[in-house]
Amino acid sequence: MHPALEEFAAIAANPDGYARAWKQQTGGKVVGTFAMHFPAEIIHASGALPVLLQAHDEPISTGHASIYPFFCSYTRSMVDQNAKGHFDYVDMILFGDHCVQLLSAADIVRMQTPERQVGFYQLIPAISDNWSFENAERTLRRAIEGIEEELDVSISEDDLAASIRVFNRSRSLIRQLYDLRRAGKVSISSLEMQHIVKSSMVMDKARHSDMLEGLITDITSGDTDLAPGMPVFLSGHLCHAPKLSVLEMIEECGARVVDDDLYHGFRYVSTNASEKGDPVKALTSWYLDRNDVVPCPTRLDPEVDWDLWLLDRTKASGASGIVILMPKFCEPHYFFYPRIKKAFEDADFPLLLLETEHETMAGGNIRTRIESFVEMIKRGAGQKISA
Ligand code: SF4
Repeated sequence: MHPALEEFAAIAANPDGYARAWKQQTGGKVVGTFAMHFPAEIIHASGALPVLLQAHDEPISTGHASIYPFFCSYTRSMVDQNAKGHFDYVDMILFGDHCVQLLSAADIVRMQTPERQVGFYQLIPAISDNWSFENAERTLRRAIEGIEEELDVSISEDDLAASIRVFNRSRSLIRQLYDLRRAGKVSISSLEMQHIVKSSMVMDKARHSDMLEGLITDITSGDTDLAPGMPVFLSGHLCHAPKLSVLEMIEECGARVVDDDLYHGFRYVSTNASEKGDPVKALTSWYLDRNDVVPCPTRLDPEVDWDLWLLDRTKASGASGIVILMPKFCEPHYFFYPRIKKAFEDADFPLLLLETEHETMAGGNIRTRIESFVEMIKRGAGQKISA
């Protein structure tokens, strides 16, 4: 494995370890964010390390006392990890997304550790109204003031502009990798892509980009041996990374992931912010524009349909089928899934739904379903393979 990929994988496996070490080495502050659309540039501009708080694979135990078992695994894991002290290095937590489960989990985290501020700066979910821009801009300006007050720093326009450039570079490099993979010019597994994106959510972005630039140079300088397999598109997981075992299984069963809209994938890096003009307005536009690039079911936008976007995008990627990874109890995803299913069935395009769980998943069952899915596409039979 390339040394950069090895380091990305190690950091993705232990994001708290990386952030703790960063804090110890630099003496700086660490600000955690919850998924999904909070612009971490405003944290970076303060000099603190922005860290996307990651779900943990370990079973939910202590957290059971505080959160319902029918909440999604991301929110249960946040509460559980906070109860166990996993986030004790985090100086402040910020988020801006309105998902009922996320809001509840944030309240619990706030109650568990009242000494640390958990700031909710709600970014307007209705993103195409006349007042959406003004509302989101106002919220971001309040969030910046909140960071300044809590961390006792001052954030200038130049700081924000510099952070936007750092984040844009990171996003652009990862998107370059996606373009290369779509074009069949590099062979990157879904596991490796997840390591790259997940580590970028935690690491010092400039260092991550330097390493990624080296990786891209190295992997594009020789011949490419494309991994064999049926090309598929991966969709879903709006907040946390799919389990590595599930990604592994998909590719072991004869599929090759060519594109995705995962949060720990293309969704996270989909959109750059403008580097011109007022940086807060640029980040406001970034927030509102993201939904045009990769629609999110937690946004309210009558102009954009995730289902139709997904169908177009899957076809354009050259995939022969789509695998939907739906976390158990993810309400926004549940709510939208019937439309996705209908769009793919109407288009006679193969779709496989896999519901993912935090604690246990029937590996044998999933393996059989993926193998059947791949086999049926190969035979050109049973186009409506959905659940
Ligand atoms: S969007 Fe889904 S995965 Fe994310 S917090 Fe809400 S329910 Fe959980």
